[in-house]
Amino acid sequence: MATDKQLAALARGRETLAKRAAERKATTEAPEQTFDSDTPGERQEAPGATQASPKASNPGGIDLGLVGRSLEQGLRGRKMVAPSCQVPVVVHGKTEWTTGPCQQQVKESPTLRYSWFKTCPHGPEFDEHGQAIPEERRPYYETDIYEKRTPVLGPRGEIKEWKQTEHYSARLRVVDVALAETIMSGRAVNYRLARGALPVSDFGLAPFCEAYGCMRQKTQQFKNGRFCSALHAKFVKARETGTMVPVGGFDTSWPMATSTQKRNEVLAAVEV
Ligand SMILES: [Zn+2]
Ligand SMILES: [Zn+2]
Repeated sequence: MATDKQLAALARGRETLAKRAAERKATTEAPEQTFDSDTPGERQEAPGATQASPKASNPGGIDLGLVGRSLEQGLRGRKMVAPSCQVPVVVHGKTEWTTGPCQQQVKESPTLRYSWFKTCPHGPEFDEHGQAIPEERRPYYETDIYEKRTPVLGPRGEIKEWKQTEHYSARLRVVDVALAETIMSGRAVNYRLARGALPVSDFGLAPFCEAYGCMRQKTQQFKNGRFCSALHAKFVKARETGTMVPVGGFDTSWPMATSTQKRNEVLAAVEV
């Protein structure tokens, strides 16, 4: 059984990974924007945040895209959009991003951590679709300039050369905040809110799955919340009701088939 410290450390790690995945995915293009319109190849998923695939199933009927160590912990996660003062610097001819003056000031005057984001003008002026971003919203976006290699094909379909093109993205900084009594005594959301994070609905994003570590936005209402799948609703319900779920496949102390079979049996009995 993991200690609270380990859980908190895991949560922090997951938060970073989810953030990185979300960096490449979140936009405010449309009111009900989902991540599914991402171009293949640009996607950099956090583990456990892979897209559901109808092919990825096992004999127990569980979609393997929906399982993974962190998801099976059954934590509830609240997705929020977090601000950060970022300014560009050119290092060896390449643009990089570094913490800007507004957040630098927080080091000298710690109370500014509760207010710097209200006046910070730093962040991209336009999103990747050329839409202007209002000044007060700019710190909530992350910018990325990345190179994409596309093959140039010859007459027989062979790769003649690779073309390098620069792409620009400015996307909302979506973070996944773990909700559990064991993590920051359950105050993680308040901690984030006090430091300027906002609900994803403020930016017109479609609701995310409430399972911590899942960034899917195709969700439906279950008795215990909005989830992408009954499976994620069950993982969360099991944890919240103290039901032990064997970790399928990943638990080396069980023979894989047995562990997966046991998990499926336990989950079948969890009502959502
Ligand atoms: Zn700033
Ligand atoms: Zn989910």
